[in-house]
Amino acid sequence: MFNTQRMKSVFLHQKYKISTFPIPIWELEQIIIDRGYDVCISSKSQASFILSTTVFVPNLSDTHNRFCLSHELGHIMCNHYDVYRVDKYTKSKYEAQADAFALYLIMPPFCFDRDLEQFNEWDLSEKYGVPVESVIKRAALITEPSNKEMRIF
Ligand SMILES: [Zn+2]
Repeated sequence: MFNTQRMKSVFLHQKYKISTFPIPIWELEQIIIDRGYDVCISSKSQASFILSTTVFVPNLSDTHNRFCLSHELGHIMCNHYDVYRVDKYTKSKYEAQADAFALYLIMPPFCFDRDLEQFNEWDLSEKYGVPVESVIKRAALITEPSNKEMRIF
């Protein structure tokens, strides 16, 4: 269902040779900056968002910001323009795609799928620097029928 988002995350893993986990915050910021955007850490908002060419993220924790930055990067990578002006259906589709991209980016298929067979969700949450709920959501992406076939290869 989210094959495009998975492919786009794999593209970035290869381009930036991402091999350290959790992915450092600075590295996510660099990827965003390389796409022509600025990153602004703002304590005024509890949620992240994009305004023009600036990505705003709240000043909460690395764990939270890692997901927020990756989610907003997902909107950029998937060319989601006018996220705040589209209809409700399109908006929820965009949000689901940005979430899927973020999960794939933070927990790459090349190592997460193997780790999942060896470690529990708390160990994985620590390794990848995300909340346990994100690990569970990421694991659910693997069991989707369309992705299951691809694991055979
Ligand atoms: Zn969003």
